[in-house]
Amino acid sequence: MKISFHGAARSVTGSRHLIEAGGARVLLDCGLFQGRRHESDVHNRDLGFDPESVDVVLLSHAHIDHSGALPVLAKEGFSGKVYMTRATGELTRVMLDDSARLQENDCAYVNKKEGRRGKQCRRPYYDSDDVRDISRRFMDARYDDTVTVRPRVKASLHDAGHILGSAAIRLVAATRGSTTTVLFTGDLGRKQMPILRDPESPPPCDALIIESTYGDRVHTESAEEIKAKVHQMVTHAVAHRSKIIVPAFAVGRTQDLVMRIKALVKEGRIEPLPIYIDSPMAAKATAVFRNHPECYDEETYRTFTSEGDPFAARYIHYVSSVQESMKLNATAGPCMIISASGMCEGGRILHHLKHAIQDEANLIAIVGFQAEHTLGRKLVEGWDTVPIFGVPTPRRAQVVRFNGLSAHADRNDLLAYIRAIKPTPAKIFVVHGEEKQSFALAAAIQAEHGGHSGIDVVVPEPGSTHEL
Ligand SMILES: [Zn+2]
Repeated sequence: MKISFHGAARSVTGSRHLIEAGGARVLLDCGLFQGRRHESDVHNRDLGFDPESVDVVLLSHAHIDHSGALPVLAKEGFSGKVYMTRATGELTRVMLDDSARLQENDCAYVNKKEGRRGKQCRRPYYDSDDVRDISRRFMDARYDDTVTVRPRVKASLHDAGHILGSAAIRLVAATRGSTTTVLFTGDLGRKQMPILRDPESPPPCDALIIESTYGDRVHTESAEEIKAKVHQMVTHAVAHRSKIIVPAFAVGRTQDLVMRIKALVKEGRIEPLPIYIDSPMAAKATAVFRNHPECYDEETYRTFTSEGDPFAARYIHYVSSVQESMKLNATAGPCMIISASGMCEGGRILHHLKHAIQDEANLIAIVGFQAEHTLGRKLVEGWDTVPIFGVPTPRRAQVVRFNGLSAHADRNDLLAYIRAIKPTPAKIFVVHGEEKQSFALAAAIQAEHGGHSGIDVVVPEPGSTHEL
């Protein structure tokens, strides 16, 4: 068996791992590379392998850094099927449509700007037709069922508790009388998060490919501390009639935060304040959440069966049109505005920040991971002046940082996950982390398991191939 790493190796973006075994070429995830424009261009136009030669894709979850290059694959000659849970399939369609639209807008903008300087035209990586093409190949797989990928290659999906429909992928390949089993975590979630079940305990494997987004960090906030922080934030906004601006990705934390506020209102601990979910994609994603009660944890499922829609309340408003969104700029507080993009790199959140950031009564709540070089990262780092639409803007609003709302396992969770695999896999590849995070996790694994004979921990280089 051969494994090659074509993305999310020593970085957090563009998850793509190719496995050759049992006469098949199986791609685990096909994520979009997001980052600086030139670098993204290189990695998204050439995926690092021949798309035509790939037989099957197995998709861990819908996040764009795992699914976003699927249409490129189809465009470049891939003719196989893509297996994933049904919830992941529906979410992925929503995400890819949005990604195609964003690319078209982005290119139109850049072309207009560069056109004046007589430069070459930019093209999107794919358009909505390519999204439709690849969507036709989506195949539903249920958690724990066995999918026969090829006569000698079988796969199964195991709840990863990261976002709706997310899965760890187990691949079993028979070669020359013996079998080799690989387990790929995709992104791992955490225990006791709202809506989702806890990550399923890992099945046995010979080799493990594990994410390391938080390989060197521990989420120090408990569920109670998060609750207290949300409580304090809402109370502050009500008292000061101010705004809480929340940059959030449409899938996952948006629904998570809404559920936590609903719980506080239900317990009578806070007055409800208007919550505007200003993202057409969040509305669509929430609709997918509604369609998949089979993915809920017990509590959410109980709410669903007794009270109906767990994501609705009279004070929650889904905002779709641009006009409605613009109206929010002039809307008086108290209110909460949740909008994308989650790292403040584009989208409607920039307008809300522009209008709210200079008022010291307002709050900006950072609920997710913020990559290097993003506006979100600058806010987390406490910059006093930040660029918004290229204009240096003084920040007076207070930044409230949640680290416990992350949908990612932390270092302790990751180590516990590995500990639960019996026997310890002989080979462990650490992927999907900034270098510091990946190497720190690798060292921690080595320290814990290195004494056992023959355990090899690798932080693969991008583009590298490893024989098992
Ligand atoms: Zn993810």
